[in-house]
Amino acid sequence: MAATTADRPHPGRQGLRALLASGRPSFSFEFFPPKTEAGERTLWKAIRRIEALSPSFVSVTYGAGGSSRGRTIEVTKRIAAETTLRPVAHLTAVGHSVAELRHIVGQYADAGIRDVLALRGDPPGDPKGPWVPHPEGFTQAGELVSLIKELGDFTVGVAAFPERHPRSADWDSDVRHFAAKCSAGADYAITQMFFDVEDYLRLRDRLAAARCATPIIPEIMPATDVRQIRRFAELSDARFPDALAQRLDAAREDPAEGHRIGVEYATTMAERLLAEGAPGLHYITLNRSTATLEIHQNLGVGPRPAPPLATLPR
Ligand code: FAD
Repeated sequence: MAATTADRPHPGRQGLRALLASGRPSFSFEFFPPKTEAGERTLWKAIRRIEALSPSFVSVTYGAGGSSRGRTIEVTKRIAAETTLRPVAHLTAVGHSVAELRHIVGQYADAGIRDVLALRGDPPGDPKGPWVPHPEGFTQAGELVSLIKELGDFTVGVAAFPERHPRSADWDSDVRHFAAKCSAGADYAITQMFFDVEDYLRLRDRLAAARCATPIIPEIMPATDVRQIRRFAELSDARFPDALAQRLDAAREDPAEGHRIGVEYATTMAERLLAEGAPGLHYITLNRSTATLEIHQNLGVGPRPAPPLATLPR
């Protein structure tokens, strides 16, 4: 009988906990579930190009509600079944009862997926609106971490915020609540997008002072389109540096120059983060691979040397 994808040995299938413990940086890429068939094609083109790099894992975001949640589950399962990649499923507590969350985690376990990024989520419709828990659900991500750990041998990641969570009253409570997620069993964290490496380093120092040793993987968002990035930064409350905004604004009529500036800025950030001992890099792809692959290639690092862009399958 022919070996299935899951049987094939592959660096991307190495346990995430073991990889993070090894001290070698992890490299990962984030996708979102597309809404249309054309979006689906774009996503799979990006997945196949990224697969050629043998990343440590890829992750799929979980929608704020409705049918996109089902699509997250479908895309994550398909990655597990049809590629050599290690998929990490984002899962948010918002709008779900505990019974529903158990069921979703069970679906992942059935599909052989053992990696979940446990999040609280934001209120659907208005992400900055008041937080209303599901009457039979959870209020904090830490509760979801505990549930997933109870349900089986899962590697669980959580969110970290270099500029602190926008709803945290102060740094002390932010760090305390983050440390509680780690005590609940979080194996690693991935940060919110940020554009100043000092913010990441300060967060790491604060967590170290609180005796929290959970690896914090910085998220890299290539800022190639000033309008789009401003919208994302506003939604996530990330500070967008004026100097970078001005350079991108000046290149507004020249998308190739905007792309070059964004890739250059992200490469510089990524180099500094790795030099400072960050345990890896998590690239936001927006389901397109070009900018993130360029940044990754500029670094000249990774689980396997990256092939030149021109030789990657399209
Ligand atoms: P929590 O850890 O629960 O924290 C939320 C707030 O509650 C914080 O202010 C925290 O300090 C506070 N808090 C925590 N515990 C307590 C306590 N015991 N008592 C009082 N206060 C407490 N959203 C999606 O909808 N889908 C996604 O796929 C998604 N992916 C993400 C990936 C990453 C890497 C990141 C950084 C964020 C992602 N988000 C996603 C956004 C995330 O859901 C929101 O940022 C949300 O507001 C916070 O989620 P959390 O898991 O950090 O929540």
